[in-house]
Amino acid sequence: KNNYQLVIIGGGPIGLACALEAKKAKLDYLILEKGCLVNSLYHYPQNMTFFSTSDRLEIGNVPFVTNNPKPTRTEALEYYRRVTVSSELKIHLFEEVESLRNEGGMFRISTTKDEYTAKYVIIATGFYDLPYLLNIPGETLPKVTHYYKDPHFYALQRVVVIGAQNSAVDAALETWRKGAEVTLVVRQPDVGERVKYWVRPDILNRIKEGSIKAFFNSSVAAVREGEVDIQTPDGIVTIGNDWVIAMTGYQPNIEFLRKCGIRLAKDESLRPEFQESTHQTNIPNLYLAGVICGGMDTHTLFIENSRVHAKRIISDLKKKEKTTTG
Ligand code: FAD
Repeated sequence: KNNYQLVIIGGGPIGLACALEAKKAKLDYLILEKGCLVNSLYHYPQNMTFFSTSDRLEIGNVPFVTNNPKPTRTEALEYYRRVTVSSELKIHLFEEVESLRNEGGMFRISTTKDEYTAKYVIIATGFYDLPYLLNIPGETLPKVTHYYKDPHFYALQRVVVIGAQNSAVDAALETWRKGAEVTLVVRQPDVGERVKYWVRPDILNRIKEGSIKAFFNSSVAAVREGEVDIQTPDGIVTIGNDWVIAMTGYQPNIEFLRKCGIRLAKDESLRPEFQESTHQTNIPNLYLAGVICGGMDTHTLFIENSRVHAKRIISDLKKKEKTTTG
């Protein structure tokens, strides 16, 4: 019963896009998702707004309708859920793929719940599962989080936000607007260049007027109950603190790719090898889709520009099926 033509690992937007194409091609497929539907998006900050317009987040040519210039996380959750339900996509949720082995031309897939076999596998596991750790004393205290959700929680509290990119800047501005006393700690000399162009002036002005305190060329050196140490160019500064929001970015599970036998670039990008036109890896019938294709360069691919992977892969599978059956 657990034998499929195609297994798709990851039920993010791109895993779903692959399933929609597979369905159109009449392939017998199954998506295995370790968390809830579009798990990464679910764990994004509650009030997050996409930088893409809704048409660029669409999959399978299903219109994503919104009156907002840029859709919110809640709208995106609604959209991807509606697409999944209306297309009756076959997906198992809360079932993590633990290993993938190629045995005599078939893939054997072991999950936390079951075993499957498949002729083809697409890995679309994204990059949101493993935060970059700070590796400092106190990082495991419950007051430190790598996943910021909602600003109200931090009202009237002393908050340190670590990072200089969109997630850090959004967290700093939102919590400050809900009455938190916010200190931003940035390793670089300035706020990131990739911060949304309509948000960057906001954070720069809040820092300039002193509403949000910022330490540049600095890093948090230790976290303790009630305070943190910040390594600044002028030495260690200790400030009172209730919560640390560490927006230091996320990395894909490269180890999983390695264990599958996928060759990775020798440079620090660790970009997995695959054919541009088909997305097939060095292992025949094993494909990569979505942001995972960029390796450690997680900002080069996003929903907008990786939706197309689904079509490339499924048209290759169609060709292969034609030659084996026809
Ligand atoms: P993901 O959405 O990460 O999906 C991967 C899925 O695989 C996850 O659901 C995960 O739970 C699952 N998974 C992982 N490992 C396993 C396993 N072993 N077994 C089973 N399941 C597994 N992109 C845009 O185009 N426009 C935007 O405006 C935009 N805004 C963003 C804002 C934020 C705050 C962030 C963090 C990202 C944003 N992105 C945006 C990027 C975009 O969300 C990602 O590029 C997108 O989620 C990639 O889709 P994906 O399907 O490749 O990966």
